[in-house]
Amino acid sequence: MTQVEPTSGAAGVATRAALKSIPAYKPGLPPAPRPGVSPHKMSSNENPFPPLPGVLERAVAAAGGANRYPDMACTRLIARLAERLDVPTDDLIVGTGSSGVLQQTMLALCEPGDEVVYAWRSFEAYPIMVGLTGARSVQVPLDERARHDLPAMAASIGPRTRVVLVCTPNNPTGPVVHAREVEEFLARVPRHVLVVVDEAYVEFVRDGDAARGLDAYRAHPNVMVLRTFSKAYGLAGLRVGYGVAHAPISAAIRKTAVPFGVSTIAQEAALASLDAEGELGARVADLVAERARLVDALSEQGWAVPDAQGNFVWLATGERTESIAASLGEAGLSVRAFPGEGLRCSIDVPEANDALAQALRPFATRSGGGHH
Ligand SMILES: *Cc1c(COP(=O)(O)O)cnc(C)c1O
Repeated sequence: MTQVEPTSGAAGVATRAALKSIPAYKPGLPPAPRPGVSPHKMSSNENPFPPLPGVLERAVAAAGGANRYPDMACTRLIARLAERLDVPTDDLIVGTGSSGVLQQTMLALCEPGDEVVYAWRSFEAYPIMVGLTGARSVQVPLDERARHDLPAMAASIGPRTRVVLVCTPNNPTGPVVHAREVEEFLARVPRHVLVVVDEAYVEFVRDGDAARGLDAYRAHPNVMVLRTFSKAYGLAGLRVGYGVAHAPISAAIRKTAVPFGVSTIAQEAALASLDAEGELGARVADLVAERARLVDALSEQGWAVPDAQGNFVWLATGERTESIAASLGEAGLSVRAFPGEGLRCSIDVPEANDALAQALRPFATRSGGGHH
């Protein structure tokens, strides 16, 4: 046996240079416990309701088989989704949340030095997933209404662009992109560039002009859609989401999965959730009504809230962001603070939304602090 000299320890092990510029993902935090106040976690866009009726029973039953690996191909879930969405099974990719599918997509498409175009501010996982491949993020500022500036995004596509991400509704600001502007945009995107339409909050959209990712996918071979069971379906903790992309892009994306990433529990819970769509509709309608009520209350106070089409609202609090977040914390409410920019507050049960509106009142100004 060869004797290996001990080296200087872990410091001697080289990690990839690309990691130096990658920010750590900051999860939304739970509220700090305070005597006498009921806490509400409004920081992660989770569903305040538990999984849909029947889902836990199926998940628990599936847990009995945990000594076995799951079906890596997610055969039943994919068959079910294919039928429901009217797309070929070959075009579906199930992954560990839609962020898992997005990471697989980046790994499948991007080489070091490539570029990925997306709006900013948007989903904070984007710069991480792009950076992990060694590709470069090209961030295009949102417009003054906190919407995607699709003409500017089209103009930002260059020879190294491999992917464009379109987040609709946009996390954390709330507005959707419209069908007409997406068609104009897609007409300007070269065929070799993949456009990923991230529809994590699609169930909450009520804007009739909103773009529909699946329509764009049907009309364009270079469009992919991302969906998730984490938000409307209330399964954030089980990690299951999916993508719809034309073959052979879908086949390439499947190759980059962590083997057996989606557990049998998650697959069964997703199937059971699809069986409970009636209840899903009622819950989503409740949250959408609460969203309208909260937006009205905040607008009444003088806040300028960008069009909220997800299960969250955005307040452009600028330099006051951290102090307002701290004050909300005193009231038992945790929200997602982007220092210097704004606060993203998830829609919760009526009591929580009322508490939020009340706690925000002292900070409202008639000018609303602008949108951005
Ligand atoms: C929450 C979210 C996702 C996906 O979350 P998963 O739990 O990984 O499915 C994707 N995109 C956006 C914009 C989100 O906000």
